[in-house]
Amino acid sequence: MVTAFVEGWDFVQILGEGAYGEVKLAVNNETQEAVAVKIINLDRASTAEDNIRKEVCVHRMLTHERIIKFYGFRKDGRVQYLFLEYATGGELFDRIEPDVGMPQLDAQKYFKQLVSGVDYLHSRGVTHRDLKPENLLLDDDDNLKISDFGLATVFRHQGKERLLERCCGTVPYVAPEVFSRRPYHAVPADLWSCAIILVALLAGELPWDEPTYGCREYCDWKDCKITLSPWKKIDNLALSLLRRMLVENSSKRSTIEQIKKHQWFNKSFHRRKGFGRFSPSSPSNSPTGTGPFKRHCSRYESSLASSPGTVSCSQPEPRHRTDRQTDPASPVSDELGQLMSFSQPVQADNMLLCSQMQGTPGSSQTPMQKLVRRMTRFFVTTDRDDTIREMNKVFDTLGYTFKKNSPNMLTMSTTDKRNMPLVFKASLMEMGENLLVDFRLSKGDGLEFKRRFIRIKEGMKSVVSKVPPMWPLLPSR
Ligand code: ATP
Repeated sequence: MVTAFVEGWDFVQILGEGAYGEVKLAVNNETQEAVAVKIINLDRASTAEDNIRKEVCVHRMLTHERIIKFYGFRKDGRVQYLFLEYATGGELFDRIEPDVGMPQLDAQKYFKQLVSGVDYLHSRGVTHRDLKPENLLLDDDDNLKISDFGLATVFRHQGKERLLERCCGTVPYVAPEVFSRRPYHAVPADLWSCAIILVALLAGELPWDEPTYGCREYCDWKDCKITLSPWKKIDNLALSLLRRMLVENSSKRSTIEQIKKHQWFNKSFHRRKGFGRFSPSSPSNSPTGTGPFKRHCSRYESSLASSPGTVSCSQPEPRHRTDRQTDPASPVSDELGQLMSFSQPVQADNMLLCSQMQGTPGSSQTPMQKLVRRMTRFFVTTDRDDTIREMNKVFDTLGYTFKKNSPNMLTMSTTDKRNMPLVFKASLMEMGENLLVDFRLSKGDGLEFKRRFIRIKEGMKSVVSKVPPMWPLLPSR
């Protein structure tokens, strides 16, 4: 799990996987300072170079509390590194209970923060083009940060707006005009994605696979059939905001100014007594944890730029970049650059997660301890071999194809209801006397992955430990 990175810095954990490589957590073993490092091996992703250049170029322009900080960029032969602020709270999608969503109070908070970040982006003439819960990360204080500028582009320069033509994004979140093959405005297209995110926050499901007339759910929405799911789970005030945002004609869609004035946006919500901020996604406390899934949407990207006139139903395609690279030079990149020797052996002791830390307030935890926040993991009462045997049984029952990558890692492959690939990994980690099973999405839709996690956890309940792997320790309000 732990590999040497640079002197004094260790790669301690894979935080996630993307189209081009992995994002790892690097921790300074003296100061406990943590950075996220996006690592792209150009030998494995030959078309990535231009795309990374553009991502760097756009991301380094941005400084705002709602945007993941960009620290620097570095090349080491065919491997490229992007140094980013480490979002200790993980992905927003981890906070969404599949088919349930989250309390309006939390949804409103995240939505407001999202709108604030998107407003800033637009004020800088930048459009994100791939807004979705997986690209919204959370910091230590549970505040949202927009990340992944891999598809972002400049749409306004020196006050002059250019229309966009490229069809890109993650289809269920993409605005209808993006599919139209006609030039479209960047701002309303991003706001459409924000509305879909709001649906996911409030209902725990996506409203449609794609906003086209071939999609029945989209037609139902256009026909005002709001007695159907997900709309029936959303209260009238929120629905009235969504009605103004999910308007097909982009010139009639609510602007950020109008969104900010909407009653739902400004309503004071109160936490219901006895409810914490988040409910971990375990069947025991999930009202619908193991219930039937209502809709399934997959994440994929399409690029008319690479394949004119078609919308591919595949995983993210190589992104096409045109921006020129500027040399990123930030203090952190310099510092890390000087340290880039790849020589220092790792002190394993530095890396151990401390299971005794349960109950420790977030602010006093080291980055290592904060790692255990992610919800798609559980402790087991069995040893490694018995756990793997149990997992094999459950995967067989659920019909997942799986392979053992290493003694401590299994990869599961399956497809979702839309026949889109869904691939995730389970890693076994010894934490003192406990064994942690950690699930991570490699490919596919985040919500769907979480639904599958709940099924697996339910299937393995005879060996799942009652000790929760330290959920976010946030007080009820
Ligand atoms: P995609 O296939 O979505 O385009 P990508 O290659 O651009 O992926 P990211 O989306 O940036 O990669 O990162 C993949 C995952 O890594 C994220 O979903 C998140 O879980 C994790 N991750 C990325 N950046 C950070 C960060 N700064 N802090 C913590 N985790 C992160």
